[in-house]
Amino acid sequence: MLERIETLINGMRTGLDNVAHDLRTPITRLRGTAEIALHGEQNIDAIREALLDCLEESERVLVMHNILMDISEAETGTMKLDWEEVDLVSLINEATDLYSYVAEEKKISVRKFLPKELYLTADPNRLRQVLSNLIDNAVKYTTSSGSIDIEAFQKDQQVGITIKDTGIGIPPEEVPRIWDRLYRGDKSRSQRGIGLGLSLVKAIVQAHRGQVEVSSTANRGSSFTVYIPQKP
Ligand code: ADP
Repeated sequence: MLERIETLINGMRTGLDNVAHDLRTPITRLRGTAEIALHGEQNIDAIREALLDCLEESERVLVMHNILMDISEAETGTMKLDWEEVDLVSLINEATDLYSYVAEEKKISVRKFLPKELYLTADPNRLRQVLSNLIDNAVKYTTSSGSIDIEAFQKDQQVGITIKDTGIGIPPEEVPRIWDRLYRGDKSRSQRGIGLGLSLVKAIVQAHRGQVEVSSTANRGSSFTVYIPQKP
């Protein structure tokens, strides 16, 4: 019991150290912008612009803080999961509906290969986050006229969900790093993002005692598969 408590406390300490470390850069940037605006001989328009930059940066810090806390909780086993019977087919349909407009705009075709019904015990809101991060990436990193295939299946005692795109792919040397907090691929920097999506996906899936796998070829596409036990 004492050993378990110690492991948990050590895990939480490391988690908080990570959050503090990851937030240092954007907070320093925020302070820098404010300092420059205060000290220079600025006109009102420049000061207003600096204030807007500060506002934007502080929004970003808040979003990052919330996601980092979620990742940290999931990694240390302190994330509270609301387990319930989840209708996976409906959940996937809902998640893809959310992205259908953006996909249509980019002329990306989204195909679904879903069984009639598939249920598992999981936290539906957390599962929604997993799906939307993976679908969001697939749409974001697929060039116009590409396609995305979403498949759900049952294998042994597990439920599998594959999201496969024909997008920009990931060079082999980057693949091991995509799960790191704040990591962004070289070719991805032109797209919006903060490099926390996949870290959150992995942490949530592991909190459900599952695993997530990727296979990808640069310039051809990527395929992410999540496996989660049907019963915890
Ligand atoms: P973000 O998308 O905000 O950069 P993520 O944590 O979601 O952060 O992803 C980390 C990196 O993994 C991305 O910057 C990108 O290089 C790569 N990546 C993730 N999903 C895909 C995908 N479907 N296709 C190509 N690259 C991807």
